[in-house]
Parts: sequence; structure tokens; C-alpha cells
Amino acid sequence: MRQDDCQPVLLAAGGRLLQSASGGLVAMPAELEALHSEVIEAQYPLGPDAADGRLLVLHADTEPALRQPAMALRDALAQARNESEYGWLSRAAQLATWHEQHRFCGRCGAALIHHAQDLAKTCEPCGLSQYPRISPCIIVLVVRGDQCLLARAPHYAAGRFSTLAGFIEAGETAEAAVAREIQEEVSIEVQNVRYFKSQSWPFPHALMLGFFADYKAGELMPDGVEILEAHWFSRDNLPDLPPSFSISRQLIESYRRGELG
Ligand SMILES: [Zn+2]
Repeated sequence: MRQDDCQPVLLAAGGRLLQSASGGLVAMPAELEALHSEVIEAQYPLGPDAADGRLLVLHADTEPALRQPAMALRDALAQARNESEYGWLSRAAQLATWHEQHRFCGRCGAALIHHAQDLAKTCEPCGLSQYPRISPCIIVLVVRGDQCLLARAPHYAAGRFSTLAGFIEAGETAEAAVAREIQEEVSIEVQNVRYFKSQSWPFPHALMLGFFADYKAGELMPDGVEILEAHWFSRDNLPDLPPSFSISRQLIESYRRGELG
């Protein structure tokens, strides 16, 4: 997907990443040469160093004729060869969404312009600045003895089970969100909540904070809305699981290896 000796350049328009003629998301040299500067609405760095590459946002009404059918972001992330590559793909997708959805000031309605120093947009009339939106979520693997809790949400592929997850509410700690989400979704109590790791999750701008937790009390009772089924699974009898690049799968694999933090 990426040539090791060149900076990746990704293209976006209308809030979405554009597929390259290569079949991936990194633009080919010929595609970049064909771009006139006036079709580029904005550009953003894909990391702290210039070598990390750039995202070029094109005016929505001047998308290049060489645009290929849209590539599903999940497919692109699944092709990432390491965490670094995953990171700049995730960042590009989130910046494309943010650029598209934050064009005007939420306080006075004036058009936003790029901030002089920060990766942000700012409003000249009233001074309000808007940074790329990030929505913190918890994602948790609950363990009971030698079993773990996995659940099915309505939008999952048939047969797939995953960890429980949810957005952190305003004013709430991540640990409190773990206890609340599990209580709301499957009606049990947990204890000994402990941090695992985090992952940027660009659907569309989540930051997943991963945790393990131990079962404390209660009977599994899915809410029937966000969770349709929930069961305790042993290490040697796991169902169809989320893709390997997801933090959900990393939580489960850590449990499978007996590494519970
Ligand atoms: Zn304003």
C-alpha cells in the first residue's frame, strides 16, 4: 500500500478518503501530478514529521476524473502493515471528516479559517477555535474465572461476537463509563477495572480506551437494543471474532494468551 521510500499522500473530498488508481488509499505520483493547485481546498500533515505525509482535501465539486470507487475504510485499515500505518490512515479519515463537518463557527456562524499555528480552525470575528473532534469511548472485556463475556450487536455479521463498548458521557470518568455501560447493556456489575491500551478508531472519530474488568454480580440480561445476545465463552470455544486490527480483538487475544494485565 505504501512505498517505503516516499511520503504517503492521501486525497479526500466530501468528507471521505478517495481510492487511488493503485487500489489502495495512497495516491500515485501520476495522480498527484494531474492535480491543479486550485482544486486543493486544504492540506493537513499525517503526523508530527513532514516524512509522515499529507492529506490533501479537494474541493467537493472538483473531484478528480481519475477517482476510483470508494474504498471501505475498514478494508483499508485491515491492510495496514503496522501501527504506524494504521495511525496515519486513521488520522487521515478523521481529518477528512472534521474538515467537512466544521466549516462554520458554532457560536457566531462565520466561516472558519485555518489556525495560524495549531492543527485547528478558528473564527476571526469571535475568536473561537475548533480542534479535530475526538470522541472517547470505553471498550471492555469482562472476565469471570476462565470465561470471558462477548456480545452481539444488531449490526454485526451473523455469528460474530465482540467486547462491550460505549461513549463516555460529559463529566464521567472512563472507569465509571465501564461500570455504567455494562450495567445498561447486559445488566451485570463488574469490579477491578484495569486499563489495557487505547486505539484511534475512525468511525467516525472515536478514541477507544480498552479495559479488562472482573465479573462481580448479576445475571446476563441483554438490553435487546444495543445488545441482542451475550454469553460467557471459554478460551478454547470462542465464536467468530472482530478483525485482528481492532482493539476488541487485541483484548480477546490477550485474554486467550492468559495476559490480563
Ligand atoms: Zn465565531
